[in-house]
Amino acid sequence: MQDALRSSAIVVTGDIVTMEPRRERVDAIAIAHGRVVASGSRGEAAAACPSGTPVLELGGTVVPGLIDSHVHMLWGGRAMERLDLAGAASVEDVERRIAAAAASLPPEAWILGTASLDREDLREGRFPTLAELDRAAGGRPLFLDRRAHDAFASSAALRLAGIDRSTADPPGGVIERDGDGEATGFLVERPAAELVEHAAPSDTLEDRLRWLAAIQPEFLSRGITSVVDPALTPEELLAFQAAADRGELTVRTTAMPLGDGEVEPEGMMARFTGAGVDLDRRDDNLRIGPIKLFLDGGGSLGTALLREPWPGTDGYLGNQTTSTAGLRAYCSWAAANGRGVGVHCVGGAAIDLALEAFAAADGEHPIAGLGFTLIHAYLWPSEENMARARELGVLVATQAPLQWSFGPGLVRRFGIAAVGRAHPLRSWLSAGVTVGGGSDGPDFETVAPLFAFWQMRRRTIQGRDDAVGPGEAVDAREALALYTTGAAAVALAGDRGRLAPGCVADLVALDVDPLTASPEACRDGSVLATMVGGEIVHDAR
Ligand SMILES: [Zn+2]
Repeated sequence: MQDALRSSAIVVTGDIVTMEPRRERVDAIAIAHGRVVASGSRGEAAAACPSGTPVLELGGTVVPGLIDSHVHMLWGGRAMERLDLAGAASVEDVERRIAAAAASLPPEAWILGTASLDREDLREGRFPTLAELDRAAGGRPLFLDRRAHDAFASSAALRLAGIDRSTADPPGGVIERDGDGEATGFLVERPAAELVEHAAPSDTLEDRLRWLAAIQPEFLSRGITSVVDPALTPEELLAFQAAADRGELTVRTTAMPLGDGEVEPEGMMARFTGAGVDLDRRDDNLRIGPIKLFLDGGGSLGTALLREPWPGTDGYLGNQTTSTAGLRAYCSWAAANGRGVGVHCVGGAAIDLALEAFAAADGEHPIAGLGFTLIHAYLWPSEENMARARELGVLVATQAPLQWSFGPGLVRRFGIAAVGRAHPLRSWLSAGVTVGGGSDGPDFETVAPLFAFWQMRRRTIQGRDDAVGPGEAVDAREALALYTTGAAAVALAGDRGRLAPGCVADLVALDVDPLTASPEACRDGSVLATMVGGEIVHDAR
């Protein structure tokens, strides 16, 4: 029966939102070979299929499969089996959790994990010291990633990485040091973090396949059927390729190869192809997206590249982690080769630099349609930035849930009015820019699109009840579009995000109608069932 369903047609009936302007709601869609072949009345759908085609009533409100246009799926799977310090309330708590992880390991083994913490999250208002990390780790090498930018390392880890007081900072990164010039164990930005990460035992293909297998059900249960995974090494991309080849990549993925401004684009791409990555892959389940570059730090990290100095600093503007020359070289090369570049740019000065590089590349070869993308772009994109993005056909990957998580810290630094102007969704859309929604997860609290629908409509931040910048809120239809048609554009997948003939048959049945329910009802709603390619892949009915 299962095989018959897979190869033959099926009619799905119910209250179906298609995201097609001409026929937004229908009673049925007909599916064959994993794609929508008809949508309309029950009679119209049935007429498109052989007689005797099974009919499935999913219940609730059915919407196109939801798309997260910026989520670290692979790293999320890895985090599921490693130490995670999320929610730690004090340095003591951090030490206790590290010590618990250490207790299960041999004395020489590395402790690997994530510590996406801010100083203010900890009661002491500071990060753990190197001595505290060493004590908790019992002398073991410890490496804790902080939001894919920074890292914490123990003395043993620094030693194994060959870092001592004579080690120079790598380009784009800082080895934080104390007054005596000794490393504190806090490494600022990826180039510094990687010095230690590369000294740790390397992950295997089987590790990565296991992580992908572990995390996909989490996404499917939240209605996410497609993602853009936005910063992958050759080895990580090979895992996606292997998962897709084995039929294990159910969550359709647009995978972005990670570039490096210090390496020529041709040489960088040769590293991928040399490792066996097919950079021209464009399957339904796996396609290669734009090249990713990190241009600045983060808003919550206090390292985004701003136009004005960071408050409370002596003129510090933030970190530029890729040189302007490197950025320009990638944009120019990508445009000439029919590819896109997705630039992590949080602060206004980084957004300015990215758009200047995009415009320069556009002057050589038109970039519209190639996937040139501003990623994050939330600490105050200007009206001029928005107009330019629209003119150039530049996409924006935005993550409203970050306003919720990072809001309190940003309010402390910049005040409520400035935070109200951050993540300006309304302004981007009014400027006519194509914007995709996403989470920058996988923090499972905020990765759920239903949570984002609430946040984008209410503009609430953690710990407050009032709307922060209510003028930048979007309406119910726009919120759904951000996670369907908008995110599909960012994923370079025009046959997703809609339930129209020819589109992939990815759909989600929700127990709330996201177009008519209140934002709170969306937040508290749940996913009844998820289908990918016409097959049920999550069922909570
Ligand atoms: Zn990210």
